[in-house]
Amino acid sequence: MSGIYSVKGIVVKEVKVGEADKIVHILTDGLGLVSASCKGAMRVRSRLVSSTSLLAYSSFSLYQGKSMYTVDDARIEVQFWNLRQDVVKLSLAMYFLELVRKLAPDETDLRGHLKLVLNTLYFLDNGKRDISYLKPLFELRLLSMSGYMPDLVGCARCGQFVDQGMYFSPQSGDLICRECHLPVDDSHYTLLGSGLLAAMRHIIYSDFSRLFNFRVDAATLATLEKLAEQYLIYQTDGRFKALDFYKGLL
Ligand SMILES: [Zn+2]
Repeated sequence: MSGIYSVKGIVVKEVKVGEADKIVHILTDGLGLVSASCKGAMRVRSRLVSSTSLLAYSSFSLYQGKSMYTVDDARIEVQFWNLRQDVVKLSLAMYFLELVRKLAPDETDLRGHLKLVLNTLYFLDNGKRDISYLKPLFELRLLSMSGYMPDLVGCARCGQFVDQGMYFSPQSGDLICRECHLPVDDSHYTLLGSGLLAAMRHIIYSDFSRLFNFRVDAATLATLEKLAEQYLIYQTDGRFKALDFYKGLL
């Protein structure tokens, strides 16, 4: 099967090939995560320079060859210009791209993932949400969409559903209530304030249209950031180069 596909997508990785060519990995709205070769795109005067650069959200015409797509044409839609000027924001954006590359399931419909990436980058770019807000939100929501959803409905042992006095474990990704919690055996569980539990439930279960609308105080956000990262590391067993780089800047 071969043909030309018109898709929109964001460039999540680029690999230089030889002097003038490169291969880009694109998270698309219709083909999932694909690789495509860009002939001559490294040349300064190539019309594909900005539209196929890392972080560019573009409209692509992709030609399907035997082993890989080729970028036939690309027109830039959003460049995320502001965040490219800020090294901390840029490195966080690179981390988001690394996460989505590594965690997105092998499916052709990744529109939900694309929407999450674009909206998170939009808020990072315009500064209307803080970094400390966007990072745990992106991590927890992406994990939930990619087969790593924690169970925050009720107590994992007795099933009780309460908003107060619940303990969460980044290792097992579940909650236990105060009555079931054993101080010694359950030392990897952290007691959550009610604001923190509500925020985590919001990030994981809310409708996308409301995702970026929750509010928490700074202390709660700091704990959320810590727990989200611990949960990510435990669940994926992964090392993320871009995360190490980002944290090295702080
Ligand atoms: Zn219980």
